[in-house]
Amino acid sequence: MMTSEGVSVANFKILAIAMMLLFAANSSSAFAADANSTAKKVETKSTTSSKTSTNSSGATTSKTSTTISSKTVDANSKTADSSAKAATSESKTKTKDVAKKNDSYWKSKLDPNVYNVTRCSATEPAFTGKYWNNHETGEYKCSNCGELLFDSQDKFDSGSGWPSFTKPQGQSVDKKSDRSHGMNRDEVICKNCGAHLGHVFDDGPGPTGKRYCINSASLDFKGKKK
Ligand SMILES: [Zn+2]
Repeated sequence: MMTSEGVSVANFKILAIAMMLLFAANSSSAFAADANSTAKKVETKSTTSSKTSTNSSGATTSKTSTTISSKTVDANSKTADSSAKAATSESKTKTKDVAKKNDSYWKSKLDPNVYNVTRCSATEPAFTGKYWNNHETGEYKCSNCGELLFDSQDKFDSGSGWPSFTKPQGQSVDKKSDRSHGMNRDEVICKNCGAHLGHVFDDGPGPTGKRYCINSASLDFKGKKK
């Protein structure tokens, strides 16, 4: 009787210690902080190790639990890293993809007037576009892809009836020689998506002396609060 009772008490004590250690491990602030975002995963792992604890000492259980938990956190932070990298490469791919879009993509996406100007190099009649007389402060983005192209601080009244700028924003536009309509002009296109924007001439005001003559249909204006 003594022996069997002694064994059962000892078993009970080991079990109780193991349970307490597990509880301590699960609820300790260090674990909670480390495994903040992986609470569910850590909890699952701890449950697995509690099965082991009935067969081994309390100390072993505690060590096992620590190792498993830190591995879980490491694995999770690696996953976060790789998903961040994936997001970056995805946005780069999207920027490249827009240049490869075919004519039917743009035809279905764009308003017919915007499509004719930006994809068929049509020119909107002077004094008819929505921005030639716009004097608001803000940014002019590509109407096809949303890339920032011009800023209102570079806009000037050219008297031509088209929005006119002395310079683009950064390296956002490309130039192409255009010999259509019996003229020798420099066509301006969106560097990101290839949309036709207008033409650039050497008769602009200072400091650049350039006049970027742009169709309103190629632009989307976003006003800034003064
Ligand atoms: Zn564009």
